[in-house]
Amino acid sequence: MQRLHILVTNDDGIDSAGLLALRRALAPIGDVSIIAPEHNWSVCGHSKTMDRPLRVREVELADGFPAFTTDGTPSDCVSLGVLGFLPRKPHLVVAGINMGANLGEDITYSGTVAAAMESLISGLPAIAVSLTRGEGWGFGPAANFAAHLLRQVEHFGIGGDVILNVNVPNVPIGQITGVEVTRLGKRLYKDKLIERTDPYGRKYYWIGGERPGGEAAAGTDIAAIDQNRISVTPIHLDLTSHRLISTLKKWGLDGWNPRKE
Ligand code: MN
Repeated sequence: MQRLHILVTNDDGIDSAGLLALRRALAPIGDVSIIAPEHNWSVCGHSKTMDRPLRVREVELADGFPAFTTDGTPSDCVSLGVLGFLPRKPHLVVAGINMGANLGEDITYSGTVAAAMESLISGLPAIAVSLTRGEGWGFGPAANFAAHLLRQVEHFGIGGDVILNVNVPNVPIGQITGVEVTRLGKRLYKDKLIERTDPYGRKYYWIGGERPGGEAAAGTDIAAIDQNRISVTPIHLDLTSHRLISTLKKWGLDGWNPRKE
């Protein structure tokens, strides 16, 4: 059987220590190719570059491992890898280890999860791995769990229509209480609009605030992280509200006649 080919990327940029830790942990499992952005794209969402060409450079990671870096987005990194930049097409994508959690609605902002989504759109399964904020950045448990999970994915298979979104509590290894398969929770953002005046008398605005909280409902990724458990949330891209389909059908929208307006 052909050796597993893993494309590793991130949104924190090619110099991130999280990328380095992930690459090292996955190396025993398969051939790792790295294509990561030149700079930090955190909170870029699923952006794709269409209005300019992409440049790709060959670089070395801090441990000497060869890698590619581009001026494109995390999603572009996956497109490059899948559409033929690499001599061999990857079997799957692993994005991370992100510096900061991606819980609940965070996934709609996350460049890490966007890279995984791009992989899914290309028909390849993907894993997104994030480490919550804490004191310093101990990537060991997150990297080791990513390797463990990848072995399970290789053994059991997950199909090409799902992402596994993994969040790891940033605590000493002895304080991690387990692993939980979860659903997405509800984030509570604390953003405020701050209005200030620039030196030329013009108003400008900043949107931001304290770190978000969340509703720690049982079974959610937010509750698992609250209790120092690793969360694994399967995600797909069908955002259809199946609940509302039958309701909307009763509105008679199909009877609207454009010629009668
Ligand atoms: Mn990031």
